[in-house]
Amino acid sequence: MLCRYPRPLGRSHSVSPMASPAPLDRHHRPLGVLRLSLTARCNLACPYCLPDGQEPAGLLSLAERLLLVETAVQLGVHTLRLTGGEPLLHGDLEALIRALAPLRQRPQGDRRGVLRQIALTTNGTLLSVERARSLRQAGLERITLSLDGADGASVARMAGLAPSAGPPAAEDDTHSARGEALLARVLAAIEHARAAGFDPAAGELKLNAVITRHGNADQLLPLAALARQRGLELRLIEYMDVGNRNGWEPAQVIAAAEMVARIGERWPLEPLGRDCHGTASRWRYRDGGGLLAAIASISAPFCGDCNRLRITADGVAYSCLFAASGTDLRPWLRPRPDRDGLLAALGSLWRQRDDRYSEERSRSAEAAMAPIAGLVSVATADSRLTAEPQATADIEAAPDANGNPGSMAAASPPAHAEMAYLGG
Ligand code: SF4
Repeated sequence: MLCRYPRPLGRSHSVSPMASPAPLDRHHRPLGVLRLSLTARCNLACPYCLPDGQEPAGLLSLAERLLLVETAVQLGVHTLRLTGGEPLLHGDLEALIRALAPLRQRPQGDRRGVLRQIALTTNGTLLSVERARSLRQAGLERITLSLDGADGASVARMAGLAPSAGPPAAEDDTHSARGEALLARVLAAIEHARAAGFDPAAGELKLNAVITRHGNADQLLPLAALARQRGLELRLIEYMDVGNRNGWEPAQVIAAAEMVARIGERWPLEPLGRDCHGTASRWRYRDGGGLLAAIASISAPFCGDCNRLRITADGVAYSCLFAASGTDLRPWLRPRPDRDGLLAALGSLWRQRDDRYSEERSRSAEAAMAPIAGLVSVATADSRLTAEPQATADIEAAPDANGNPGSMAAASPPAHAEMAYLGG
């Protein structure tokens, strides 16, 4: 099903901040998903993402995050996606999930809303047997792991693992070996999650892959094969322009339609479409090999039913992934929490929301984007292709040549840009 604006674009929706517990934005879109970043740090340095290497000042406390989620649920949020940076670097992750339990079930007649699902997007490098089990026991329901290649060289390149010093041949070998080690960790993480009870057949365990034309286009079939063998839904993510920090250029984008077509030539597919408010269009392998998905925020934007709010690790809310500025929520959190003020502020932010960056980009740049193979045809020929983004992350065990843990480039605004790749 493809959602569309129930009302014409630009028609505003004026309601006093406290009058409605479930506000609609200016395009009549409800709030439904909160992406909450727990840390800006990451142990990988994927070139398409380039997350921050350091925490911002004024990181939120557990109590402050709880209040934010509780308030967002009052305003309509039903799904919480925990992101980063790499969220498994955050020590309070399980404590936060446990503390959200009262929001999961409400007494009958309670109108404060229910948090129906808690999901995590991670690179999996820190997902041990124990961590997977403790997350499940805490109440986590879904994990999306990121993996951008099925061989060591591709994984190392896409994860931004630093080349080692030394003669070229040795450098290549070492680089690939480190990629192999990273790949092995992610594959182990998949099995740890499965053993902990995250069932891929129930959509509780998925694989994300960002594909770029000159980075890992050759990994489409190997990644699809890997996901099919392990019973995982593979979600292909178009390379996106997250601010100016990842050197994005249209020529690097492979449209979802092209990616899906290439896989479909090998394993025939039948389309399933995109769920309302979802980011991924999905296909079923005709041979019973499971599901394939694509997130096409460049070639087939889905702003029309976007219901996502993002809050950074230091409490800045963005009503669009690509918004240049956000709203600092800390004045309603510190020094003492102001529940009513926070509810009014978040509600007002959502009611004023007019964002549809990807659609506007698509329209204004259509001519410039035309050279991207298949780009325009995707948007027009298969309107069910919709999408958005997802993850990147960090690996604690990826020392550089000097033995330092995963180093990464210094970041530039927007500070929330890394969240672009943090799962739909
Ligand atoms: S660009 Fe992405 S985050 Fe922004 S409104 Fe469109 S779909 Fe939503």
